[in-house]
Amino acid sequence: MVYYNYFSVAFYAVMYFLLHFKKIGKISFTYLVLGEIIVHACMGAYYIGWSAGFTQIMLCIIPIPFFISQNRKAIPYILSSFDVVVFIVMRIIVTNRVAPYSFDTNRENILYIYNTLCSFIIIIYVSSIYIFTNEHNKREAKAQNEKLQKLATIDPLTQLFNRRAMMDFIKKIESNSRRTNSVYSMCLGDIDDFKHVNDTYGHEVGDEVLRVVSDVIAGNVPSEGYVCRWGGEEILFVVPNTDTESCEKIAKSICQKIHECTFKENSRSFNISMTFGVYSVTPNENYDEGISKVDKLLYKGKNQGKNCVVSK
Ligand code: GH3
Ligand code: MG
Ligand code: MG
Repeated sequence: MVYYNYFSVAFYAVMYFLLHFKKIGKISFTYLVLGEIIVHACMGAYYIGWSAGFTQIMLCIIPIPFFISQNRKAIPYILSSFDVVVFIVMRIIVTNRVAPYSFDTNRENILYIYNTLCSFIIIIYVSSIYIFTNEHNKREAKAQNEKLQKLATIDPLTQLFNRRAMMDFIKKIESNSRRTNSVYSMCLGDIDDFKHVNDTYGHEVGDEVLRVVSDVIAGNVPSEGYVCRWGGEEILFVVPNTDTESCEKIAKSICQKIHECTFKENSRSFNISMTFGVYSVTPNENYDEGISKVDKLLYKGKNQGKNCVVSK
């Protein structure tokens, strides 16, 4: 038994180096350690006797193979069955057999307590793996969901909501407006002569213009409002509990800020403008009537010479 203990110490030292220098994988390492624990427990029971408590460790390692991710799902069941069979066989072998190293009751009790503590540590270790794996999986699933949610609702170029997400918001705003008998405002903006920007400065610069315009609008719409990329270079924002006058004020301020932005492409610099239509939807109107009205007002603004805000 003493020689086996020397072997054990050498075994764990070698295992540590093999793992550290990546000569064996974590799965092989765990299986080898489990094998060593079983052999150690059997040697302990065989040479010192059942009552020293070595074999109880064998029962505590049963869940460990279930935490090792592997493709073959049967392996943990086979290993745990093997472990229990060895446990029962050892019990049969050791019963009614005088152990070669029989200790007095005191030393036997100390060994028993030591083995109980080892079993306790293994169970706590296994339970902690379970808790941490569970938490890690939950966090991963949450991050994955948020990523999917973002992909489904956010426009990748402008980082504004996309049209689909906006439709959901508008429906909610509409039902709130009916419940509270309040108006909400819609504002649709379209960059003026954007085709010319693309044709003159290139599509990349056009994209940058779209990003800047989106940032300006998103930064100036009140926090209770929603902003989306409605189409190519059209941006729609909706503000609950807001009448035409207030929304027109917001749109005019945005219109001015956008016109003040200067864009640079190599040595050339240029400014752009945007036209807006503003319309307040009453509780007895449908949201699609509002969208159609705001669209008409926008095109009225385009016909009036662009770079303006037109409301009812
Ligand atoms: P108007 O003042 O009447 O709005 O004229 P416009 O040139 O802005 O309007 P038009 O609808 O003729 O052109 C819109 C252009 O917007 C055409 C399209 O290539 C461009 N566009 C749409 N989406 C994007 C985009 O994601 N990036 C870039 N760079 N251009 C885009
Ligand atoms: Mg345009
Ligand atoms: Mg357009």
